[in-house]
Amino acid sequence: MKTLINIKVNKKAAAKLRAGYPLLEKEAIENPKALKEEGDILRILDDKKNYIGTGYYGVQNKGIGWVITREPEEYIDAAFFARKIEAAFQHRKELMKDPDTTAFRLFNGEGDGIGGLIIDYYDGFYVIHWYSEGIYSFRKDILTAMREKLEFKGIYEKKRFDQKGQYIEDDDFVEGERGEFPMLIKENGVNFCVDLNDGAMTGIFLDQREVRNAIRTRYAKGAEMLNMFSYTGAFSVSSVLGGAVKTTSVDVANRSRPKTIQQFEANGIDVSEQEIVVDDVFQYFKYAARKKRTFDLVVVDPPSFAKTKKRTFSAAKDYTKLLEETIQLTKHKGIIVASTNSSAVDVKTFKKFIKEACKEQGAAYEIVEQYGLPEDFRTIEAFPEGHYLKVMFVKIKKK
Ligand code: SAH
Repeated sequence: MKTLINIKVNKKAAAKLRAGYPLLEKEAIENPKALKEEGDILRILDDKKNYIGTGYYGVQNKGIGWVITREPEEYIDAAFFARKIEAAFQHRKELMKDPDTTAFRLFNGEGDGIGGLIIDYYDGFYVIHWYSEGIYSFRKDILTAMREKLEFKGIYEKKRFDQKGQYIEDDDFVEGERGEFPMLIKENGVNFCVDLNDGAMTGIFLDQREVRNAIRTRYAKGAEMLNMFSYTGAFSVSSVLGGAVKTTSVDVANRSRPKTIQQFEANGIDVSEQEIVVDDVFQYFKYAARKKRTFDLVVVDPPSFAKTKKRTFSAAKDYTKLLEETIQLTKHKGIIVASTNSSAVDVKTFKKFIKEACKEQGAAYEIVEQYGLPEDFRTIEAFPEGHYLKVMFVKIKKK
């Protein structure tokens, strides 16, 4: 049985929550001692004890919980989760029917009404991401709801709530049949290999679907392409299929080589014609400068934070420098696809980084396309932080 707790929030927070903000911030709470165990149901009240909404206690980043309904009488049970999942499913109906795209996000946290809960679809399999112990405490009800509302071969899960909000290593299989990995999924007709039971990541970042499609259909033809922070080389695959003459994929992780080879082979691409470099991107910049190598199309997609033996990279602090080095390797009229998922860098700041980097390098530029999250990564206006992806296609004009 879940415990029900009355939580009083300050005036400022009350106004924000009433306007639709879904995250309960630690500072907002006037009676923090009342919070006992993650997963407890919170009735959120203003300073006059008027009801604002119902949420759950779950510690995640800067929040301590999420508002999940604004109906005072609504029970948080399997039927509640079933209604949310059904609504989420209805929003992805078209994608479900599309035979050319068999992997996408089914349920996107607060965008679909429940912060801390993410469910991705991979051709018959679902992967649940639990972002706090609080949301994990509803596991039984959520699985019941999924069984009722969704058809699937099997379910996997990622527990992303150790002390630092990191993934907990485990056998991620939950129920149904086990998949045979690597398995193939399709995205706009392109094959990608995924493994749903191999650590925190599956082999593809589903939020870049539109960007990969733009590269393949409009930017890759005839290009010498460089893929920085390439992971499994998904952008390289899209470029080759879009007519790139050659791709170079650079990632510091050893796993990137076999995983990238796998992605190429899944699409019948001759791997011997592509270059895969396992190295620090910043080392590669130096190497490419020595060899006077330049590129028509460069994708730069760093993590928000990264620590290698030699340095720490932070998107908020170091992106401009990274772009400067990238501009040096980019040909006149070349395109840089600059991407960041850092919540510390909003669109305005990101554009400022681009402007500064171009200025420093004496290059003129034009942002020719801009992408955010695709529709299946639903967000709500009241929570702009949820819209974390920023991707700019920047045309570089050298003097
Ligand atoms: N662009 C990829 C996703 C990148 S994930 C895609 O679309 O699939 C970030 C990657 O950056 C990880 O694979 C990590 O190994 C790599 N990485 C982190 N720091 C790095 C560095 N200094 N040099 C090269 N790669 C780095």
